[in-house]
Amino acid sequence: MKNGINRRRLLAGAAVGLVGASSQPVMAKLVSKGGGYEFEVQRTDAEWKEMLTPEEFEILRSGGTEAPKSSPYWENKETGIYSCKGCDLEVYDSQYKTQLDKGWVFFFHGIPNTVMFGIDKINPYGASDSATEGPAGHLIEAHCRRCGSHLGHVLQVGLFILHCINGTALDFEPKSA
Ligand SMILES: [Zn+2]
Repeated sequence: MKNGINRRRLLAGAAVGLVGASSQPVMAKLVSKGGGYEFEVQRTDAEWKEMLTPEEFEILRSGGTEAPKSSPYWENKETGIYSCKGCDLEVYDSQYKTQLDKGWVFFFHGIPNTVMFGIDKINPYGASDSATEGPAGHLIEAHCRRCGSHLGHVLQVGLFILHCINGTALDFEPKSA
């Protein structure tokens, strides 16, 4: 697991470098969610599969949803920063985290300018008593501003708007006091 993470960080760093180098047309695949926005970090599916486990790829790149409580982060109470597993961008701060028994990782909001939104046509949670759904049952998707990877959804829970995030899509770095 540790080796996987280190290798991933290595690849992430290399890819960021390539994107910045104009002489390198290697990162050809355009990842765009519409609106003309181009993500800063772009990789081919082959490159994503090289750096991610199959489950991580399913969630980050195919919009999948992990089984509830499958990631230990759902009940993590440590102080620290959660970053996108696709590009290491710091996306959530533990001070904005809240814990719900639903078993995903919940935040009141992301770190400013890190999380973008889209429409997800599929409700991965099935019939739900608390998820706010549009007329067609669509949900608001939360994805990374830098690499576009799917992180989770934004839901209304009671009187709050919460980010319901897959722990599998995140890395956690404890904050040293
Ligand atoms: Zn990212």
